[in-house]
Amino acid sequence: ELRNIAGIKQSTCAYCGVGCGVDIHQQVSPESTQIEAVSLQGSQDHPANFGRLCVKGENLLATTSLDDRLLYPHIKNERVQWSQAIEHVANKFNDIIAEHGPESVAFYVSGQLLTEDYYLANKLMKGYIGSGNIETNSRLCMSSAVAAYKRAFGEDVVPCSYQDLEQTDLIVLVGSNAAWTHPVLFQRMQHAKQINPDMKLVCIDPRRTQTAAMADLHLPLKPGTDAVFFNGLLAFIAAANACDSHFIQQHSEGFEQALASASSYTPERVSQICELGIEQLLDCYQWFIESKRAISFYSMGINQSSTGVDKCNAIINCHLASGKIGRPGCGPFSITGQPNAMGGREVGGLANQLTAHMDIENPQHRQSVQTFWQSPTMTQQPGLKAVDMFDAIKDNKIKAVWIMATNPLVSMPNRQVIEDALDKCELVVVSDCVATNDTISKADVTLPAAGWLEKDGMVTNSERLMSRQRGIIAAPGESKSDWQIIAEVAKAMGFSGFDYASVADVFREYAKLTGYENNGERLLDISALAQLSDAEYDLLKPVQWPVNANYPNGCAQVFSDNKFSTPSGKARFLPITPQLPQAKIDNDYPFILNSGRLRDQWHTMTRTSRADALNEHSPQPLIHIHPKDAAKQQIKEGDYVEATSRFGKLIMAANITEDVRSGEVFAPIHWSRTFASHGCVSALYSSVNDPISGQPELKQTPVAIAPK
Ligand code: SF4
Repeated sequence: ELRNIAGIKQSTCAYCGVGCGVDIHQQVSPESTQIEAVSLQGSQDHPANFGRLCVKGENLLATTSLDDRLLYPHIKNERVQWSQAIEHVANKFNDIIAEHGPESVAFYVSGQLLTEDYYLANKLMKGYIGSGNIETNSRLCMSSAVAAYKRAFGEDVVPCSYQDLEQTDLIVLVGSNAAWTHPVLFQRMQHAKQINPDMKLVCIDPRRTQTAAMADLHLPLKPGTDAVFFNGLLAFIAAANACDSHFIQQHSEGFEQALASASSYTPERVSQICELGIEQLLDCYQWFIESKRAISFYSMGINQSSTGVDKCNAIINCHLASGKIGRPGCGPFSITGQPNAMGGREVGGLANQLTAHMDIENPQHRQSVQTFWQSPTMTQQPGLKAVDMFDAIKDNKIKAVWIMATNPLVSMPNRQVIEDALDKCELVVVSDCVATNDTISKADVTLPAAGWLEKDGMVTNSERLMSRQRGIIAAPGESKSDWQIIAEVAKAMGFSGFDYASVADVFREYAKLTGYENNGERLLDISALAQLSDAEYDLLKPVQWPVNANYPNGCAQVFSDNKFSTPSGKARFLPITPQLPQAKIDNDYPFILNSGRLRDQWHTMTRTSRADALNEHSPQPLIHIHPKDAAKQQIKEGDYVEATSRFGKLIMAANITEDVRSGEVFAPIHWSRTFASHGCVSALYSSVNDPISGQPELKQTPVAIAPK
């Protein structure tokens, strides 16, 4: 029995980019006198969820057992002291840099890291080692959205807030199964519809997902034709005289060129290319122009494409043309996958970004950051994006990689390339909280990281809301926070500038940098938080950036003044020429494999698989096949099916369903060799990616299927 109730602490869910607040009830164990977390519930006062949680959030505590935890540092599977491990990593990195230069090393990090971890990893690589080779798994998730926002607004700014979902007339979900992937936001949409029954939900998705089933209108478009659909909408807005001429003339540039690219996409032509019924298509277009307020809500189905950036800009163009931006209930709303993908974007976790939304290619910005850091060097160029980074490891150009809190062997495309790369790499360091996953099996050095519930720091959700994750129980074994591990390695490499007394100390430095030499050029400015004391940081309530002299309490509605971060201060239209996916079917590979998340698992299952309740929903991976295709291939429900692409194969049991279009199959992303020896989808993906964002085309792999 437990005694001494110690109260409740608020933290933020460890999974998706909704960023729900959780109240954790803690007590002191009579046996150990240590604080234990005994139960949790959604925080009623957290603006992301107001008490709601999805099943993953409800089961967070069931995933925090010590089974299979990485508790001690290891070199070549032998337990060592922290000092030995740190010295080994620092010396090896220094030796390789001395012999081959700073571009011969890399960090591959994660949207699971907290902002302070991310900030220090970026500082070490870009400002001290002097290379841009720090890349994050967020490249696979939303880098196309980042590039598109930057093209349109001059800065990576998400212009919407969750409260917009409750103030709109129309939500168009594109390439998003929010009912499963961002459940609490979908609940908010449903709630908004109950309050305002005239509000409409449209789901544009090749699959009939749970989201599609609950929408007013489902448009099962041909995969990869989204830019055609939105070019058609832009042309329709113009033809119907539904443009916001004042906004276009006063606050934007490039409208004529964008419209010229779109004008040939008549509804009839769009209907034919997208394989959609003309009436349904016109319903959606008409609703968009008739609605005073509309939100386009999109995620991986748009971003994970060889033309993902153009697809995002095709969506943004429609909002600019109709003036549905900078007002409550309006905007193009890209939703992040991971709990801190947004925080990574802010501190420069992507190889082509500098910290605080400064540009790596801008000499003044580089100088500014270097002066602020007082660092010995500064990368002069962007680093390698994820696919190129692992290619460079395979080609022996990068000889040491430190992988933090991610499992690229399961999540990156073309598994064989990643496997070869890690096998060849001279030094593979992995810091993680789990002891077993596919990537860890390739590590030379493993460093035990503290996990959720055990560490303090900040995360930013999909609406720019910064919330605290709070450490409640002691980190087990010898595990440490990632920021501490990074700082210790940096110091062992001989760098000053990494002495921090606390995580709050790191946060203050980052907050100060966002306001440094920022004369209102960039919206990402949280300099009002740079003076927080440790106690104030600990008690900080969720707040949306910017947080500065103009917005001391944060800002929910950006662009309401129609001022954008471009040199002219105007939003930019982009002319879009739609392209079909690069990977195409042929006689050998006649089906398109689509992939995505399930309701109750998270990424590569290293945590969610520990909760029995979460494993019940889908105990094994299933490949979804249309009945016509199943009959043709002589596959019956439950049969094991082999799916083969040019790059690899998987085996999963068949789920025969009309939820997928004929000619397309769907498989979940979660399983790896660790959990199902033949169920790893990443083995089948090609490395084709968007030339602007570098985001791989993970929704479109030609495959052959046959009974096994
Ligand atoms: Fe966690 Fe996302 Fe579920 Fe909220 S919606 S509880 S953030 S997984």
